[in-house]
Amino acid sequence: MRTLIQGGDVLAFDEGGHRLLRDGAIVLEDDRVLFVGRRFPGVVDRQVDGSGRLVIPGLINLHCHAGTEAGGRLIADVGRRDYFQAGFLNYTVTTRGARAIQAREDLAIGGRLALVEMLRGGCTTVVEIGARSDTLAPVVGELGLRAYLGPAYKSGAYVSAGEGLAYEWDEDEGRRGLERARAFVRAHDGAYQGRLRGMLYPYQIDTCSPALLRATRQAADELGVGIQIHAGQNLLEFHEILRRHGRTPVELLADTGVLGPDAVVGHCIISTAHHLAALPAGRDLEILARSGASVAHCPLVFARRGNALESFHRYRAAGINLGLGTDTYPRDLISEMRWASLLCKVVEHDFTVATAADVFTAATLGGARALRRDDLGRLCPGAKADVVVVDLRNLRVGPYRDPVKALVNCGTVDDVEHVFVDGRMVVESGRVLAVDQAALLAAAQQEAERLWASVAEWHPEKLTADAMAPPSFPVLGRDLGA
Ligand SMILES: [Zn+2]
Repeated sequence: MRTLIQGGDVLAFDEGGHRLLRDGAIVLEDDRVLFVGRRFPGVVDRQVDGSGRLVIPGLINLHCHAGTEAGGRLIADVGRRDYFQAGFLNYTVTTRGARAIQAREDLAIGGRLALVEMLRGGCTTVVEIGARSDTLAPVVGELGLRAYLGPAYKSGAYVSAGEGLAYEWDEDEGRRGLERARAFVRAHDGAYQGRLRGMLYPYQIDTCSPALLRATRQAADELGVGIQIHAGQNLLEFHEILRRHGRTPVELLADTGVLGPDAVVGHCIISTAHHLAALPAGRDLEILARSGASVAHCPLVFARRGNALESFHRYRAAGINLGLGTDTYPRDLISEMRWASLLCKVVEHDFTVATAADVFTAATLGGARALRRDDLGRLCPGAKADVVVVDLRNLRVGPYRDPVKALVNCGTVDDVEHVFVDGRMVVESGRVLAVDQAALLAAAQQEAERLWASVAEWHPEKLTADAMAPPSFPVLGRDLGA
């Protein structure tokens, strides 16, 4: 099967980077890119109109959670002050004996909604951090996207003991979790024509013992899969690790063997490069760069908590590979590029850093390098035929000369027109072909309302999630002007 996308701006890959090909064409043959150039001389089975559009490689969402939803867990404007800028602790930490907030009883709805949202928005590869992978695996097969899945595991749990944050330890549970992850990888790695790959997700640096981290490295080497872990997520965690082990989270990852070219550090906001760490003479960036590990940068969720990486530019200049992720919600990698660019400019007080080209490269080639995939994030012969057609001809964007600056600064996921994965069209004219989007949204809304109705069962002390917080404005309970 040969598909020709003819016309428009094509972002081709040549000599190690993206190149802008005006009035270009791209031919997909089965699951691979066959040709990128002006006019294809051969015969094709199908033609797609690319005139006036922008044709880009599929975006790589290097860090997302398909099991969390704005409907149940949105933390905006509120939260416990003693968690500093951490958002997730507000709904993750349970008081002993209390029931944790479940965003969804049925991950088949929420997880499907998340994967549909990302595919619709041009993410052809998603790295999902440890939700119920058994439930998500068949959805990946059905929707036709590419995903790195695995059940997350940990040896410690967050608990709210009295006033502060504490940890409850269960080493056996950590070991069992790693075994479950190993079994998942053995059973699913390479499924759906290789679109589904395994990854190991020890959950957070502060909930994993050094023994579990070492065992993770050993398992990753045996299985030949990568590792991703949350580290440097917030101030409490950074200083907890410093107090517990006498070293920074990055140093602990290095000492336990986790860091390496196959390792991705989720967030890594609080490192010795961050002013809040208040730790002089830190070497975190140097250690990360030397190890070849990548950082999954998710700027928006941290901006919502009043924090930012310091900075995209400094990490890159230190030689660290950066990919972009959306973390919880919204799962919009196009706006995430914009946040990555703008927040870096603000942090550095410098408009020349984190350019549109830099953040676009992170969302494509950076993610690919983190996954050790030289066939993703680029459009050149031999690469996987993961392609996104974007139509920026609308009132919001207006006339533009540079399509990448236009996409990063003005684009939204609604500008995504068609998406191909492995050469197969999975989104057509803004619709994910494998699902009824309206029905899925209605089911998710119904499920969310059931969730909101059940909030009384939860422990009120910790409920600062949107499901419990008062609305932004007081509810009006009477007629006006009658
Ligand atoms: Zn995360």
